[in-house]
Amino acid sequence: MSVAQALRDAAARLETISGTPRLDAELLLAHALGVSRNDLLMRQRDLRVPPGFNLFLDRRLAGEPIAYITGTRDFWTISLHVTPDVLIPRPDTETLIEAAVDHFSKRAPAHVLDLGTGSGALLLAALSQWPLASGVGVDVSSAALAVARGNAQRLGLADRADFHLGDWAEGMEGPFDLILINPPYIARNVLLSGDVLHEPDGALFAGAEGLDDYRRIAPMLPRLLAPGGMAAIEIGYDQRVSVSALLAEQGLGISARRDLAGHDRCLVATPAGLA
Ligand code: GLN
Repeated sequence: MSVAQALRDAAARLETISGTPRLDAELLLAHALGVSRNDLLMRQRDLRVPPGFNLFLDRRLAGEPIAYITGTRDFWTISLHVTPDVLIPRPDTETLIEAAVDHFSKRAPAHVLDLGTGSGALLLAALSQWPLASGVGVDVSSAALAVARGNAQRLGLADRADFHLGDWAEGMEGPFDLILINPPYIARNVLLSGDVLHEPDGALFAGAEGLDDYRRIAPMLPRLLAPGGMAAIEIGYDQRVSVSALLAEQGLGISARRDLAGHDRCLVATPAGLA
């Protein structure tokens, strides 16, 4: 069967379980062939469909996320290795890096802290954005930290990235110019479907209202933020008011930023008295 035909057939089968069936088919076939998606599309007449493709397709049809099958996900300007021990980086989360790029403008953050680093996505994106920065990624999961450390190595960022097993910023010494935080924020009783069913619960759920981790993190921020610095904190689309209130209680300045879909996605917190 030709690559073109295999992609058409696979996309048709994937339609029932995926919102992006054609893209999924291309990513899985490229992975089975060990080539980039771009190479697959450019060279499809020269390529043959390998037997492994059907195994990947079956896993996807059973609901497994593409990123766990291929083991990679692109984020910002970097490509990350991901496993079921970590949340799959989302394009929405790039909103936090955009907020930081705007805030620092022609300056650059020197010290970066990523709380709940998971795959290392936010910390490593920031270190690749600012070549002189160094930083620390904290996670409560040692399995996640192993993934993050591997990513730092592969990306050539290990000499600027430290990883620390910990409970948010408990015991951390500041100050940091940039603090990046994508905590769990889904309310316990929310019914989920799709990729999230395969992701670690600990990275997703945060108590009855999804606010438990913000309540823990907010009081830690004032002492950790350097003058002129900022924290970029991911929120659920309906949490701007509730999380802003928790941050305001700590005397932080707050502004909100939307993701590409137009949802409130990121709160920017700055030290008291600084805009
Ligand atoms: N944005 C993710 C989702 O809705 C949640 C990630 C998180 O809780 N940090 O699937």
